[in-house]
Amino acid sequence: MMQIYADNAATTKMSRTAIDAMLPYMETFYGNPSSLHTVGQQAAEALAKARETVASLLGCEAREIYFTSGGSEADNQAIISAARIGAKKGKKHIISTAFEHHAVLHTLEKLRKEGFDIELLDVHANGMISAQQVADAIREDTCLVTIMYANNEIGSILPIPEIGAVCKEKGVLFHTDAVQAAGHLHINVKEQNIDMLSLSAHKFHGPKGSGVLYARKGIPLTNIIEGGAQERGKRAGTENIPGIVGMAAAMKEACEHIDEDTKKVSALRDKLIAGLSKIPHSILNGDPVNRLPGNVNMCFEGVEGESLLLLLDRDGICASSGSACTSGSLDPSHVLLSIGRPHEIAHGSLRLSLCSWNTEEEIDYMLEAIPKVIEYLRSISPLWRDKVENRKEFILK
Ligand SMILES: *Cc1c(COP(=O)(O)O)cnc(C)c1O
Repeated sequence: MMQIYADNAATTKMSRTAIDAMLPYMETFYGNPSSLHTVGQQAAEALAKARETVASLLGCEAREIYFTSGGSEADNQAIISAARIGAKKGKKHIISTAFEHHAVLHTLEKLRKEGFDIELLDVHANGMISAQQVADAIREDTCLVTIMYANNEIGSILPIPEIGAVCKEKGVLFHTDAVQAAGHLHINVKEQNIDMLSLSAHKFHGPKGSGVLYARKGIPLTNIIEGGAQERGKRAGTENIPGIVGMAAAMKEACEHIDEDTKKVSALRDKLIAGLSKIPHSILNGDPVNRLPGNVNMCFEGVEGESLLLLLDRDGICASSGSACTSGSLDPSHVLLSIGRPHEIAHGSLRLSLCSWNTEEEIDYMLEAIPKVIEYLRSISPLWRDKVENRKEFILK
């Protein structure tokens, strides 16, 4: 049986390049960069070099890069920092969207309880937010706009340079959660008017537990973790040197291959979408064109996401669904609800996220296996029978 990993939006397998870059920093150069001796200074050099690499890949200066434990921490720190800056000036209005990652939404929820006015923009049915929506929402007391670069569930790519331009013109700080975009799309923070940006190594074949917050110089960050003076005093804790070195290596490799990977992976994606769209009573989530190269997300009426995943896993296919049983709640994905999918339909979602290591053979295998599993699940569903026998209406025509 084939084993297919199609859950690259959740996390990726590390690249050989990243692993090889890390090993010496565990075996030989294991020092603490704060130590004055040679072993420590070797680590400090690696840290400085990794910072240079990441900065040049984002189009900023090394001193604007802060290493974090991942995307979630970077999101938290960016948003909390902007909120504190705003509060000092009496500005407590924050603009975001309804389909952000929970690292953003839950941080905003915390600020709402502290008295901030949080405005979540409506997402269009195709998974987009326009720069005009942002322009219309900005007020005198807006201290932050935080909008993701690309959505992790439905793959839509937002007009970040345009949104950044609006924020710049109005003098409002702009943060973007670029965790799904970094290493996959061309990013340049200066050209794209981005004040703060979050990224995470494990979404581009780097190690888990390693991320970056870019913050334009002059933006005073608030510490989330207090302690030592690491990261210009803004993030305490002995630096994760292997993780940071591995992230820089993985990011460089990913960024150097963006164009060829996009071409290859989006062709696989489009073949998968075209094949799955032949399944009756199904619908694609997100924009057909303006989407991440590896993202496929569809809803199938009469199918329950969790059962679908378990049966696909039995067939060797690792996928993901929007229904969040993991969180212990039966609520379907807030992302699918935000684009207007009814609860019943949102429960039957499937996300397949590809990378450049997936093959055409794997796509063919999935196009064989998935329709069979869906047919089986429908055949044992009483609700489906009601629809087939005209006692209930189909929602997806
Ligand atoms: C994965 C992800 C995160 C969280 O990153 P971690 O490094 O796992 O903390 C945040 N935002 C988006 C859009 C993601 O896909």
